[in-house]
Amino acid sequence: MTGREGLFIMAARSETGRRAPGGTDALGGDLDLDGDTLREECGVFGIHGHPDAAAIVALGLHALQHRGQEAAGIVSFDGRVFHSERRLGLVGDSFSDLATIERLKGTAAIGHVRYSTTGETILRNVQPLFAELETGGLAVAHNGNLTNGLLLRRQLVRDGAICQSTSDTEAILHLVARSRHVRIVDRLMDALRQIEGAYALVMMTNKKLIGARDPLGIRPLVLGELDGRYILASETCALDIIGARFVRDVENGEMVVISESGVESIRFARAQAVRPCIFEYIYFARPDSTVNGKSVYAVRKSIGVELAKEAPAEADIIIPVPDSGVPAALGYAQETGLPYELGIIRNHYVGRTFIQPTQSVRELGVRMKHSANRAAVEGKRIVLVDDSLVRGTTSVKIVRMMREAGAREVHFRIASPPITHPDFYGIDTPEKEKLLAATHDLEGMRRYIGADSLAFLSIGGLYRAMGEERRDPDCPQYTDHCFTGDYPTPLTDLAVASPRRMAILAEAD
Ligand code: AMP
Repeated sequence: MTGREGLFIMAARSETGRRAPGGTDALGGDLDLDGDTLREECGVFGIHGHPDAAAIVALGLHALQHRGQEAAGIVSFDGRVFHSERRLGLVGDSFSDLATIERLKGTAAIGHVRYSTTGETILRNVQPLFAELETGGLAVAHNGNLTNGLLLRRQLVRDGAICQSTSDTEAILHLVARSRHVRIVDRLMDALRQIEGAYALVMMTNKKLIGARDPLGIRPLVLGELDGRYILASETCALDIIGARFVRDVENGEMVVISESGVESIRFARAQAVRPCIFEYIYFARPDSTVNGKSVYAVRKSIGVELAKEAPAEADIIIPVPDSGVPAALGYAQETGLPYELGIIRNHYVGRTFIQPTQSVRELGVRMKHSANRAAVEGKRIVLVDDSLVRGTTSVKIVRMMREAGAREVHFRIASPPITHPDFYGIDTPEKEKLLAATHDLEGMRRYIGADSLAFLSIGGLYRAMGEERRDPDCPQYTDHCFTGDYPTPLTDLAVASPRRMAILAEAD
């Protein structure tokens, strides 16, 4: 082994070894997008040149835990050997003990938290992924989803590639490996130009920490600095936890290459306006993060203000559906002047409802997660504020719970427009047929969830809350396909592999 290549030591725990989500495509057969395809919402973090690299990555992943609660992993490099720990479960369960952190030797490390809602979580899909290439070791952590990932995989497998995982991220490693370029940075650019969709990547070689953000900047990625050492992270809250300074957002279509000589910026895609995912502001990002220069908390409160202007209610109190409905409910309460009460208490030791892979378990999760605070609710006309309505699972349970706790009237206000279209960029809303707003009109949805009234924020209201005068129809400022059906990239896998689902998507557009 030369210093350039590096060794790879991997500590992998037990693996379920069940059928690969994504059907037969991993074997090079037909792509089955109607099957249990694996999609991911994740958080990424990396640091270069720090004596406590792995411990810092573990802390960063703690702050990003809300982005992925199914699995976590860290890969470090000690100047000679790459070390890896990838585990199912929460960051705190896997990366709190000294022995694990000590195994992850080195002054550079990257980490990943993972969250998938369909398909099974198997250990070999847990990131960072790692490969030994001609240029040396390469570890990759990916937040987002490639819209041509399955097609690329099919081509690669037909060309003889052996895939270790069912993750779309692995295609990136294969493309880098097959590139004819000599330098790793050129190979990466070559690979990035072949992939489509959404990606915030944090990668590590034996010399460099590298970040890349897709040409539209759909998923977030920031550059930070701690004592002169550079950091890459999905959100600024992961910089705050370690007292690091926010330097700037990684730009859309930009690759940042961090080495001993500092930070180099390389454009791999033509310059165009950034179009971040608006759902980061509505639901995904932590409220104390600043995403693309905007405080997530401030946006969520403004959303509540706009919602109150658009959809006031004759009521006694405003109740947030915790936690994601809290800032919008505050804004709603401030705008209406109605008292803000904690009518629902959240059990913080239960994960997000979507983590449960089946509908029945998901419903159980909702009951475990929220309890009614009868003292606040009994005899009152209440306004419930939640950030979004997807399948309606949460809303049905919460409305029933409020009535059982003695609420006189229940008015539901949703702090986003109706979700009518599925996501393919890593936030993993379900297929169109399962989206309540795609299959019901407003009155149908109201009846389904059992509220006395139901209203959603308009798309115009959402853009006003983002500080825009209006949504520019010719060049929308945000990726907002969930509400508009306006997908900002080609949906190559879907178009080629599942014309049936593509047709359903196009229906009524
Ligand atoms: P549902 O119960 O299916 O209507 O989903 C809505 C609830 O799930 C809301 O309370 C949201 O906070 C939360 N939520 C919305 N989008 C997502 C997502 N992509 N992943 C996980 N949870 C979500």
